[in-house]
Amino acid sequence: MTPNVYNTEDIYILGIESSCDDTSCAILKNNILLANVTANQSIHEQYGGVIPELASRDHQKNIVPVVDTALKKANISLSQLSAVAVTRGPGLSGSLLVGLSFAKSISLALDIPLIEVNHMQGHILAHFINENEVVSCLNEEKTSNSSQTTSLKKPNSAIKPSFPFLCLTVSGGHTQIVKITDHLTFDLLAETEDDAVGEAFDKAAKILGLPYPGGPLIDRYAKTGDPTKYKFPTPHLKNNNYSFSGVKTAFLYFIQEQTALNSNFIEENLNDICASYQAHLISYLLKNVLAISKETGIKQIAIAGGVSANSGLRKEIELLGKKHQWQTYIPKFEYCTDNAAMIAVTGYYKFLKKEFCGLDATPLARYEI
Ligand code: ADP
Ligand code: MG
Repeated sequence: MTPNVYNTEDIYILGIESSCDDTSCAILKNNILLANVTANQSIHEQYGGVIPELASRDHQKNIVPVVDTALKKANISLSQLSAVAVTRGPGLSGSLLVGLSFAKSISLALDIPLIEVNHMQGHILAHFINENEVVSCLNEEKTSNSSQTTSLKKPNSAIKPSFPFLCLTVSGGHTQIVKITDHLTFDLLAETEDDAVGEAFDKAAKILGLPYPGGPLIDRYAKTGDPTKYKFPTPHLKNNNYSFSGVKTAFLYFIQEQTALNSNFIEENLNDICASYQAHLISYLLKNVLAISKETGIKQIAIAGGVSANSGLRKEIELLGKKHQWQTYIPKFEYCTDNAAMIAVTGYYKFLKKEFCGLDATPLARYEI
């Protein structure tokens, strides 16, 4: 079957993201975002982590209403779509399968190309999302009520990274430093050899008795704590790679020792514990970014992924950037965690290069960037 590649003058891309526990759909007109709708799954909170089987079931339940709402918000019909872009991996196989199968059925029914997207490339290309005025206003309204408004200093469409740039991609499943030479060329320069930094946040939160996902809560408590009060170890790996499993264990032992001495240790020192632990993770993340920036001479530095929503990391990278004459790029808060807008944008650049995939594409739980 030859897909109907150019059925309209404008390019309309439908993006679908379902790699973990967020079901999201976005629509782009050319490179402008018309809609970005996400259903978050709260069912996992009670288990302290994502349960894959429950996540797939919720995607099944959410995907049709989410796509429908996105089409309504964008005020377009299915027949106008030029292509459908979908996350192929990395992620949970059962979750990916729901989005991929749904995207295949749209591609087949409308006779339009299917574009597979690497989720980690999507996180980075979130820096190239251009909002139309309506989406921008909705987002401003949404975030102005939240405690995390630091990202709203300038519109997201203002300045984009220029090539080549480095991106520190930090999420629940990944910690990477990537060199990006054009919209579709990515070189992995460093990564974690064990756990991701998001896991280091979430595990520490669990030890402190905080609900899942704990990263945003550690961020909140850290705001009024002393970041210098407690110290944690920093692993030294030769190749600028990261390791977070030792830090997690050190944190567990530290809390066990302190609570053996004082059973109220956590309650009495929660803000200082969070501030010290967060400051430690941030300085470790940035140490390797600085080393790679010096090695490569690249001073265009971006952050991406769920942990890039962290207010401490956002502040520190700007401070470090000023010191080292970097141009820093921080995504808008709503494009840090998983969303389909980043998948649609990646799909748009692949569409321009006619990088389509067949209907036999399978989900890739592991997918190198
Ligand atoms: P995934 O890893 O599935 O791609 P995301 O990219 O959405 O998911 O990242 C989720 C991770 O981001 C979780 O580990 C969560 O705790 C973390 N996170 C989200 N907001 C913050 C924050 N403000 N501070 C620290 N971590 C955060
Ligand atoms: Mg993610």
